[in-house]
Amino acid sequence: GAKSYQFMLRTKNPCGKVTNKLYLVMDDLADEFGIGTLRLTTRQTFQLHGILKKNLQTVMATIIKNMGSTLGACGDLNRNVLAPAAPYAKKEYVFAQETAENIAALLTPQSGAYYDLWVNGEKFLSAEPPEVVKVRKDNSHGTNFVDSPEPIYGTQFLPRKFKIAVTVPTDNSVDILTNEIGVVLVSADDGEPQGFNIYVGGGMGRTHRVETTFPRLGEPLGYVPKEDILNAIKAIVVTQRENGRRDDRKYSRMKYLISAWGIEKFRSVVEQYYGKKFEAFRELPEWEFKSHLGWHEQGDGAMFCGLHIDSGRIAGKMKKTLREIIENYNLNVRITPNQNLILCDIRRSWRRPITTALAQAGLLLPRYVDPLNITAMACPALPLCPLAITEAERGIPEILKRVRAVFDKVGIKYNESIVIRVTGCPNGCARPYMAELGLVGDGPNSYQIWLGGAANQTTLAKRFMDKVKVHDLEKILEPLFYHWKTKRQRGESFGNFTTRIGFVKLKELVEKWEGP
Ligand code: SF4
Repeated sequence: GAKSYQFMLRTKNPCGKVTNKLYLVMDDLADEFGIGTLRLTTRQTFQLHGILKKNLQTVMATIIKNMGSTLGACGDLNRNVLAPAAPYAKKEYVFAQETAENIAALLTPQSGAYYDLWVNGEKFLSAEPPEVVKVRKDNSHGTNFVDSPEPIYGTQFLPRKFKIAVTVPTDNSVDILTNEIGVVLVSADDGEPQGFNIYVGGGMGRTHRVETTFPRLGEPLGYVPKEDILNAIKAIVVTQRENGRRDDRKYSRMKYLISAWGIEKFRSVVEQYYGKKFEAFRELPEWEFKSHLGWHEQGDGAMFCGLHIDSGRIAGKMKKTLREIIENYNLNVRITPNQNLILCDIRRSWRRPITTALAQAGLLLPRYVDPLNITAMACPALPLCPLAITEAERGIPEILKRVRAVFDKVGIKYNESIVIRVTGCPNGCARPYMAELGLVGDGPNSYQIWLGGAANQTTLAKRFMDKVKVHDLEKILEPLFYHWKTKRQRGESFGNFTTRIGFVKLKELVEKWEGP
């Protein structure tokens, strides 16, 4: 019979903002043209899986007409710009979110339609070619971005996809250090926004058995006053456009450019485009993981409610109930970088009926969800992602249950948690290299195990073991968790514990293990 193409389509929603109308449209499209489920992603967007080729035009047109956009969702240009999803009315949150939107607008190609879609792993539909323009680099103000129709991407798009996140101090709900550019708002004591710290060079993707590919954390580039942020972003993007490697896609992310040059050279080249020196990075408080789950005051009289959605998959009764609530109360929603959903703008008097309706559909408030699930993430992987080597989303529920069982067996308390992330391939969409326990598919039913990330997503994990069959996980996890429980320092997280003990010793413990 005729080949049935399956499309995977992503939308672009800076800060994960989704209007009431767009949510309802996506919900309908999933039923009518997709596989009947909605998928929230780690970049605060929707994915619709399983759209047939013949329906593609209808789906695209419907989304664009209803204020969503698929522009920039894929391809070698700026991806969705992350920002904390929480709809706080606080000045700093609003300003960070506006900045994310401004950056997204700045880096949206001006050539009109630009999108690409993936069909069975091949890029199927791609950019309308941008008008060919020359970017003058000898301008005394740095780069002349103003006159050309495609001023930032120039005659060619970026060597690879490009990721940016914006946040406020302490709120690391966006995994700030995993982005090409991480922007952190700096405010005065009275809360008035002053400027931004900028990190550069983060990125997750790597290739198995190619040790010259690696995940990398962003590092400080410098500080800019708030009015200069867009110029600074442009200067960084142009530096990558002009200098990032194009000969080998494995090495074309900006992190490899910065690794090759070192931050000093990178900074000085960016400064030539920026036309100024970066100021010294401002000192900021420690990062924290913020889930934004549960009920919170927005600060404008309304409330918001963050709902944990396992692997961001909205399906079945839960999907139906969410739709009813969002439709009946006319709520806007936001997608978090942890694949969760926030219901926004809720009146106080609606809290009780909404809580009841959510509970009836199995949508639980965070205190009823296993703490392991709250911080866990998995990418879609099989059967939806063509790059997948093994299971992630479909496998993680069972893996979390097994981790919980091992915790119980060795006596780790229920409220102790660790960050677990699973991906079906080394591309690392669910950011497994930041996890305390990262599982990265490396064969059928087998995973690399990565250890050493931190609960606040500030430390890179390291590869501990290869080719661990999923049914053998307990053989590794039991000794690790047993020794964490018995040898940890006071309050020591699992990630810090594995780093302190070291992999040589940990491997020895695993090999000698005969049970608790
Ligand atoms: Fe696909 Fe790999 Fe990304 Fe998972 S990590 S969604 S398998 S590309």
